[in-house]
Formats: sequence, C-alpha cells, structure tokens
Amino acid sequence: MRVVVDLNRCQAYAQCVYAAPRHFALHGREALVYDTAPDDADRAEIERAALACPVRAITACADDLAALDEAGR
Ligand code: SF4
Repeated sequence: MRVVVDLNRCQAYAQCVYAAPRHFALHGREALVYDTAPDDADRAEIERAALACPVRAITACADDLAALDEAGR
C-alpha cells in the first residue's frame, strides 16, 4: 500500500507513532519519518494510525488504487 503524510499539516503529535510504531517514528521533537510503502498485510495498523492523527495528515491507499491514480484514471 502507499502512505503519504502531509508534513505541512503534521504537528508532531505522535499519535501515529503509538498506533503503528513499525511504520512511523519521530526523530527529535518534530521530524516525522514513515514507511511510504508498507505491506498490505499491515493495512489495519496503518488505518489505525491514520484515524489516530488529530489533524488528518495521513493518507493511505492500496497499491492498485495508487497505480490508477498515477495513471490519471
Ligand atoms: S499523528 Fe498526525 S500530526 Fe501526529 S505525528 Fe503523526 S502525522 Fe503528524
């Protein structure tokens, strides 16, 4: 699956880090690093992180939907 975080919106609340620590981490107090292409098997964890984000900065979708989007369909 594909994951994008709007870093202009992210306020480093770290809720995603608690929800999905294998895919999101804060380096220092403000720099979020994250897995942009987690395995589909981790979908529930990623969705939990997206729902936990108080500013809705996390967007996630399945690989097949991302491919359609990139093709402009
Ligand atoms: S929960 Fe949202 S605001 Fe907080 S670090 Fe994660 S992406 Fe950023």
